Amino acid sequence: MRILVIEDDPDLSRQMKAALTGAGYAVDHAGDGEEGHYLGDTEPYDAVVLDLGLPVMDGASVLRNWRQAGKTMPVLILTARDGWSEKVSGFDAGADDYVTKPFRMEELLARLRALIRRAAGHATPVMECGPVKLDTATSRVEVGGQTVKLTAQEFKVLAYLMHHRDKVVSRTQLTEHIYDQDFDRDSNTIEVFIGRLRKKLGVDVIETVRGLGYRLSEPAAGGPSAG
Ligand code: CA
Repeated sequence: MRILVIEDDPDLSRQMKAALTGAGYAVDHAGDGEEGHYLGDTEPYDAVVLDLGLPVMDGASVLRNWRQAGKTMPVLILTARDGWSEKVSGFDAGADDYVTKPFRMEELLARLRALIRRAAGHATPVMECGPVKLDTATSRVEVGGQTVKLTAQEFKVLAYLMHHRDKVVSRTQLTEHIYDQDFDRDSNTIEVFIGRLRKKLGVDVIETVRGLGYRLSEPAAGGPSAG
């Protein structure tokens, strides 16, 4: 899952980037509204954290422009204390949720998790696929009740596939959602992560869809078919 943070306060930006990276997200940052608007317009994000008071272009205008252009990614706005009118204009511009400054990182993370899973059509924090369970709150992965240890990148791949269960996800799409903008991307490494995930999970939940990508779905009863 990849997140865009648009915030002009350098300290708060650094804290959010560290917290989000630590929680297993790929994170891009913009320090003004214009750059932020451009990134959100051109890169695929699973969620955006948007400060309303920004240099060059204010947050509400950024959001309004995206929504008018048909961008539907979940957006959480950061508002000032007692800024009820700010909240109202933020929601009217197309915001999905907000936190009031100052806030606890835990609250920001929890709200983002909820927004991301809601956007993917999941109501509960624990996602399941056959014997595989992924707890988005704790980042824990279990197969048949046994914890499976994954690297950060393996987790990102699995989390994206779990959020898009039963859908075909291309290698490009995976690459775009597990790496930040500055990362030297190589879609061939996705194959390596998928191989390792299959081995670690030990169950047949990730199917290769020839020429298209991968699909995570419940293994057929009785194990993999012989065809
Ligand atoms: Ca600001």
